[in-house]
Amino acid sequence: MTIKNFINGKFENPIHKHWIDNYCPANGEVYGKTPNSSKEDVEKAYQSAQSAFRLWSQTTLDERSRILIKISELLEANIQRFAEAESKDNGKPVSLAAAVDIPRAASNFRFFGNAITQFASESHESVGQNAINYTLRQPLGVVGCISPWNLPLYLFTWKIAPAIAAGNCVVAKPSEVTPMTAYLLGEICNKAGLPKGVLNIVHGMGTTTGQAIIEHPSIKAISFTGGTATGAHIARIAAPMFKKLSLELGGKNPNIIFADCDYDEMLKTTVRSSFANQGQICLCGSRIFVEASIYDKFKIDFVAKVKELKLGHPSEASTDIGAIVSKQHLEKVLTYIEIAKQENGKVLCGGQKVTIEGFENGYYLQPTIIEVDTDECSVNQEEIFGPVVTIMPFKNEDDVLEMANKVKYGLSATLWTDNLKRSMTMSNELQVGIVWVNTWMLRDLRTPFGGVKASGVGREGGFEALRFFTEAKNVCIKY
Ligand code: NAD
Repeated sequence: MTIKNFINGKFENPIHKHWIDNYCPANGEVYGKTPNSSKEDVEKAYQSAQSAFRLWSQTTLDERSRILIKISELLEANIQRFAEAESKDNGKPVSLAAAVDIPRAASNFRFFGNAITQFASESHESVGQNAINYTLRQPLGVVGCISPWNLPLYLFTWKIAPAIAAGNCVVAKPSEVTPMTAYLLGEICNKAGLPKGVLNIVHGMGTTTGQAIIEHPSIKAISFTGGTATGAHIARIAAPMFKKLSLELGGKNPNIIFADCDYDEMLKTTVRSSFANQGQICLCGSRIFVEASIYDKFKIDFVAKVKELKLGHPSEASTDIGAIVSKQHLEKVLTYIEIAKQENGKVLCGGQKVTIEGFENGYYLQPTIIEVDTDECSVNQEEIFGPVVTIMPFKNEDDVLEMANKVKYGLSATLWTDNLKRSMTMSNELQVGIVWVNTWMLRDLRTPFGGVKASGVGREGGFEALRFFTEAKNVCIKY
């Protein structure tokens, strides 16, 4: 299968005919190729977007909304096809892609298709000065959207949908590790009647294609989701050019469990928040802190539940844990397990590569729980982004709050407690962008989404995203 760029509504080979192998993590085989697009391809995509901008930015909100909702409906009508493609590219269970990734990609278009019809700006009357100010919210022009491999279509569309809803035209790049569903999206956009050039998708490596997007002098904003080091690099290039930047970066999220919680609900959700998508979700609760009085019980029950998870080929309906996204990433995760052992960590379960009959070269790793004796060890401080969690006990609120905040990241936190005062005071104190109390990853697309510290700058979601993708202009009229 040869993936192509989607420029001006047409599928095209990269100008210089440079390609990257596309791997299937479930069996480790190359099953296709993806363009490694050059600066010239990005320029072509930019020109296409720029030519479409005037008309698209003048298209009525009703019409934009209608097209976005049509894209959403077409994605919903093709869930199985997209889910299978996502799974083949990423290694995640087809069942997960069909239940979460693709429906959410459809929701992203539906949500912003509706949100744009409700988005409004303010006016300010300058009392006593016979003047009125009103604020225009104008689209930026051509914007760049760059996304990672863990939730490929889900995060790609989370950026594209608000960008085009707000009247911008887009040059977008999915991860070179998981390009397939972004490729298929082009076809859907054409069927939905999205005008040519409004969305342009260029495939390739971060260091070639991604770099050309962030360096492009006329691309007005970069919405990026990915690793913290890449985010810092993008900021260094884009900031002196005064591009608007939204950076959604890494996480090392605490999952804080108090003895007074609903234990069964907590246990069930903690298995999910630790290992869903092979632990490759920026929001996974990879540092589990448990109140000392229930620590021993939790340890036994958690290990037992995790051992019940079925690791297998992503297309098997019974599979809970599929393959890790790439060989390189599997090796990185294994290295962290070794580091944990050197730093006195005790592997309570998992920790080993798994060979599945018939798919011997696939990238499979057991879900791994490591008991640590200090929150300062590397596996508690650095993002692993795989099926690895640490557990350790804590004494009281102050103690756990200090440990929870003592990392460079600040994306999300989960709290398990039945104590309202504690959940509210701790939510105030946690240095993160999102707190879940007695739940995990329950999303309402109207809420602001993003992190603090090394987890990013800016917020996505709801009107925050529409504000990012528009420029406010104040008009003052004296009468
Ligand atoms: P990555 O930073 O390696 O790549 C992300 C994207 O950036 C890819 O499309 C890549 O090609 C591109 N890129 C790389 N170098 C670039 C450059 N020089 N210029 C422009 N683009 C470049 O991240 P990844 O390995 O794909 O994803 C995993 C990371 O993403 C983890 O750190 C995870 O926490 C983070 N993540 C964050 C969120 C969030 O919402 N905060 C969500 C999902 C994933």
